[in-house]
Amino acid sequence: MHVVVNAAMSADGKLSSRRREQLAISGEEDFARVDRLRADSDAVVVGVGTVLADDPSLTVKDETLCERRLERGESAQPARVVVDSRARTPADAAVLDARAATYVCLSEAAPIDSRMDLADHAELVTAGENRVDLLRAFATLQEQGLDRLMVEGGGELIFSLFEAGLVDELSVYVGGKIIGGRDAPTLADGDGFVDEFPLLSLESVKRIDDGALLRWTVDS
Ligand code: NAP
Repeated sequence: MHVVVNAAMSADGKLSSRRREQLAISGEEDFARVDRLRADSDAVVVGVGTVLADDPSLTVKDETLCERRLERGESAQPARVVVDSRARTPADAAVLDARAATYVCLSEAAPIDSRMDLADHAELVTAGENRVDLLRAFATLQEQGLDRLMVEGGGELIFSLFEAGLVDELSVYVGGKIIGGRDAPTLADGDGFVDEFPLLSLESVKRIDDGALLRWTVDS
């Protein structure tokens, strides 16, 4: 399995404002890059916090990229994965629409009624007692043939993935904007590390739109 985390942050490291509303941090050229990255992935992964804040569809927008996927014998769209311990994903969320297959990773604490609602729209993967056990959930996704995962956020999920040692690559677009706010989400939130910090090796730096794309690999 290969896991790429891709996110856009402000120059001060925020993924959005304290209102947790989706913000434009990058521009057209970076949107196109993110679309290509989605198209090259077997699945696009987010935490339920991002679903509740932004209601993203996580689909590839460029139809040529979808056609190329079909030519490669893949589905037109990559699958979508929501990490959602308690089945809080609303049944009418865009990520559950018919445009692509969706997996919702739950914990055993997810209420049965909510599970049943979600089961009409998505494949359910249960791993972990109170919170999704990411190692087990990702192992199940791999068994389903989802090998190249692109994680789009948010900060809680990204931190947990680093903590679990599941991240192979990090692509961060840094935009020319200051958002500020101690409660605004950052690239890696969670409890934070106090030692054994994950270390990265810088692979490339590229100017895109009015910001820079930094690509790092995660040291093993
Ligand atoms: P998030 O990371 O999308 O989702 C976090 C939630 O996932 C947790 O609260 C938890 O809820 C669930 N979860 C289940 N198992 C987990 C585990 N093992 N580790 C971590 N989380 C787990 O939410 P967020 O950090 O609040 O981020 C949302 C914000 O990020 C929004 O403001 C959105 O706009 C922004 N965002 C920005 C970008 C960007 O590139 N700029 C990309 C994505 C999102 P349960 O306990 O209920 O399961």
